[in-house]
Amino acid sequence: MQADITIIGGGMAGAAAAYFLSRGAAVVLLEREEAAGLHSSGRSSEQFTVGISADTMRRLAQASRPFLENPPGGFAPLPLLASRGCLTVGRADQQASLQRLYGRLTGVGAEARYVDRNEALQLFPALRAEKFDSGVLEPGAMDIDVNTLLQAYLRGARANGAKILTNAGANAIERKSGKWIVTTPVGEVVSSMVLNAAGAWVDDITRLAGLAPIGLTPHRRTAFTFLPTGIDASRWPHVSNVDYRWYVSPRGDSLVGSLADAVPVPPGDVYPDDMDVAQGIENIEQDTTFKIDRPLSKWAGLRNFVADKNPVCGTRVEAEGFFWLAGQGGCGILTSPALGQAVAALMSGRELPEEQRTLGLTAEALSPSRKELQS
Ligand SMILES: Cc1cc2nc3c(=O)[nH]c(=O)nc-3n(C[C@H](O)[C@H](O)[C@H](O)COP(=O)(O)OP(=O)(O)OC[C@H]3O[C@@H](n4cnc5c(N)ncnc54)[C@H](O)[C@@H]3O)c2cc1C
Repeated sequence: MQADITIIGGGMAGAAAAYFLSRGAAVVLLEREEAAGLHSSGRSSEQFTVGISADTMRRLAQASRPFLENPPGGFAPLPLLASRGCLTVGRADQQASLQRLYGRLTGVGAEARYVDRNEALQLFPALRAEKFDSGVLEPGAMDIDVNTLLQAYLRGARANGAKILTNAGANAIERKSGKWIVTTPVGEVVSSMVLNAAGAWVDDITRLAGLAPIGLTPHRRTAFTFLPTGIDASRWPHVSNVDYRWYVSPRGDSLVGSLADAVPVPPGDVYPDDMDVAQGIENIEQDTTFKIDRPLSKWAGLRNFVADKNPVCGTRVEAEGFFWLAGQGGCGILTSPALGQAVAALMSGRELPEEQRTLGLTAEALSPSRKELQS
């Protein structure tokens, strides 16, 4: 099979890239599993926030907001975002951290305001009043409909002529006569360019192509759901403490909770660790009035980071025609529109979209060759 671009990986990154790239190129997307989105992209907390500490990631979040709020006509059958808000609380001795968060949000043009203890308790009545003094509210934080977004990218890519192949893992990658040849159980794909969007497996794919890894480390995070007893918490904001020892986020009638853990692990299918669930419950019960006897469900997923915790989007001089879209950490859903647009621009030899440059984003800051990633 021939294509202009072969994308390896059918998570949110590969799907977004397929959507934006297929507007101007013949694209084949290869996913090893029987369906797209079975790994990190199907295991997230479904949150849109701009309160992110890594600078490039935060700018990409803000750059993604217009697409998610107002996607092109016919892109998705349902709204992609729903109002939620994000409340971060801290003690008096943690004011510097809350101020940093406030500065990060307003620095990229996101709305933020300080709230005192009373207002925080009105917003999230299950907080224990004695455990915090004030907070920062990001009213523009949202819930993302992750499945609708993923399916919309894939449907849009197919409508543009892209081929989405499942059960089609890349087993070998070769460079021959200026082309990349990717071998899969369903045949070979020959293309001028390859996009490595294989999530936690990005460095495995890089090595398969005979190139030096970008230094990606998957980090496991465990989450669970529980039912609040006797209260309707469905309209409450996402909440966490400022040193990020736990978070809680309403999802339908239940709540998602997590220890906000980040345990380095090899790439693979990951499962929830009972100790992490128990510690998450303990931390949440210390700072809130929730009593979590037994979680309704639990799961774990991978958040993949390179050294500076910013994403990688671009190529390297020695890797002609081979591009990376990786290292989205805990933000790969919410940054997918901006990263999809960025990779489409860079793979077509264009500069980043103007809206991204206005926010201070540069190809250098996204590059796999940036100095922050050299050891
Ligand atoms: C608990 C948790 C909470 C999170 N919360 C949020 C959140 O609120 N908001 C947010 O934006 N992000 C969140 N994230 C992060 C987000 O889920 C990830 O950043 C995002 O899903 C990464 O997408 P991806 O496409 O890079 O990876 P993946 O979804 O893992 O996709 C990579 C794909 O590559 C495929 N693949 C691997 N090897 C091969 C091969 N050889 N050939 C073909 N295919 C291959 C895999 O099967 C996989 O489907 C969270 C993550 C976790 C774990």
